[in-house]
Amino acid sequence: MTLTLVRCPYCVLGVQFRPMVPHLDGRFICDKCGHLALPRDANFRCSCQKCVELQSSRIHSVSPVLKIKTVAS
Ligand SMILES: [Zn+2]
Ligand SMILES: [Zn+2]
Repeated sequence: MTLTLVRCPYCVLGVQFRPMVPHLDGRFICDKCGHLALPRDANFRCSCQKCVELQSSRIHSVSPVLKIKTVAS
């Protein structure tokens, strides 16, 4: 079994990003902000508050052409 260390992109612990806590189902959770990560699933979408804010700000900046491309794939 490989030990994977996943760091929360939103929380800084000292000079590094905060390591996330591994769960039995393969997910990693940040115990500070609640951010979730699933490294083995590229389509996994976290729905913590910070990710939702990031996604909504992205939607506003994405052009309609790019939006259609994303939906089609
Ligand atoms: Zn965090
Ligand atoms: Zn998140």
